[in-house]
Amino acid sequence: MDLGQVSEYCYNLTNSYLEIKNQTQVIADTQDAIRLTKRYFLQDIFPRWSPLSCEISFSYNGGKDCQVLLLLYLGCIWEFFLNSVQDSQYDRQYHQYPLRSLPTVFIDQEETFATMEDFVASTSERYCLSLYESVRDEGKKLSMPEAFDQYLKLHSDTKAIVIGIRYTDPYAADLKTIQPTDDDWPDFLRLQPLLHWKLSNIWSFLLFSNEPICGIYGMGFTSIGSIKNTLPNPHLNVDRKDKPSLLFQWEIAHAFGKTDDQDPEVNVSQVNHKDLALLNNSNEKYLPGWYLTDDSLERAGRVKRC
Ligand code: FAD
Ligand code: MG
Ligand code: MG
Repeated sequence: MDLGQVSEYCYNLTNSYLEIKNQTQVIADTQDAIRLTKRYFLQDIFPRWSPLSCEISFSYNGGKDCQVLLLLYLGCIWEFFLNSVQDSQYDRQYHQYPLRSLPTVFIDQEETFATMEDFVASTSERYCLSLYESVRDEGKKLSMPEAFDQYLKLHSDTKAIVIGIRYTDPYAADLKTIQPTDDDWPDFLRLQPLLHWKLSNIWSFLLFSNEPICGIYGMGFTSIGSIKNTLPNPHLNVDRKDKPSLLFQWEIAHAFGKTDDQDPEVNVSQVNHKDLALLNNSNEKYLPGWYLTDDSLERAGRVKRC
C-alpha cells in the first residue's frame, strides 16, 4: 500500500470502530475519545498546519499510544484530503494524494528491546513513514531536546510535532492539546490530541484495529522503556489471585478485516530471539499487556532508579 492507500485504510478502520453499536461501555467511551481526537486534528490543527506539507511531523517510538495516534492521524489526513478535493472545481480522479511518506521522528535515546527496534522498522514500512532516527554523537546518545534540535536543523519547515502522550503519563496532567515547548527545549509546537485517552481506550481500539502490536506487549509488558528499567507488569503475573480478566473479547473476535476462518489470536509482532533469551530467564509467567486497564498501574513494571 502507498501512503494514500494506508490513509484511506485507516479512515475506514476508524469509521468502522465508530459504527459499533450496543457493545461495551469501554467501546462507547473510546468512540467519544476518538471523536474528540478527530475534532482536534480536523478543526483545530489542520487548518493551521497542513498535514499534506512538511509543517507537521509525528514523534514515533513504536509504543501502543503513538501507534493508536498514528492510525487516527492517518485516517484524519485522508478525511482532510477528501474535504479539500470536494472544494475543488476538478473531479476527484484528477487529484493525487500529495504525500509519498509521512514525516516522522524517532529518538534513539535508550537501550531498547530488539523486538521494539524490529517493530519500529517493520511499521515504518507498513505505514510509509519517512523515519528520521537521531544520530549518536560520537557514541554518546543525545538527550531528547538535543536530538530534536538536530532534527529541526535538518527539517527546518517543521512547525509542530504530534506526540502520543496521555494525561496519566508522568508530568502530563497539566499539558494542553496545542502548546509551545518549554524554555529548555528547541522552539516548536507540541500537538497532543491523545491526552484524554485512558489505557482501556488504547487497548480497545488497538485490538480492534487488527494491526500488528509490538510483541513485547504480548509478554506481559504494559509500558516499554529501556531494557535496563523495564520488566513485565507484576500485576499480570498468572500466579496472582487478583489478576485482571480480559475486557476486550468483542474487539478481538470482531477485529477489523478479520474473516471467520482467521485465527482468533491477537496480531502481535514476532519477539526477537535476543529478547526471548532475556525474558525466559525467569520462571514467572504473565498475561498479555492488554489485560491491564488500571491507568495507575501502567508503569508498575518500571524499575525505580535509586
Ligand atoms: P511514552 O508513552 O513512552 O511517550 C509518549 C509519547 O512521546 C509517545 O507516544 C511518542 O509520541 C513520544 N515519544 C516518546 N519517546 C520517544 C522517542 N524515543 N522518539 C520519538 N518519540 C517519542 N518534555 C518537557 O518537559 N518539555 C517539553 O517541551 C517537551 N517537548 C517534547 C516534544 C516532543 C516532540 C516529544 C516527543 C517530547 C517532549 N517532551 C517534553 C517529553 C514528553 O513530555 C515525555 O516526557 C516524553 O515523550 C516521554 O514520554 P514517556 O516515556 O513518559 O511516555
Ligand atoms: Mg505511552
Ligand atoms: Mg517512553
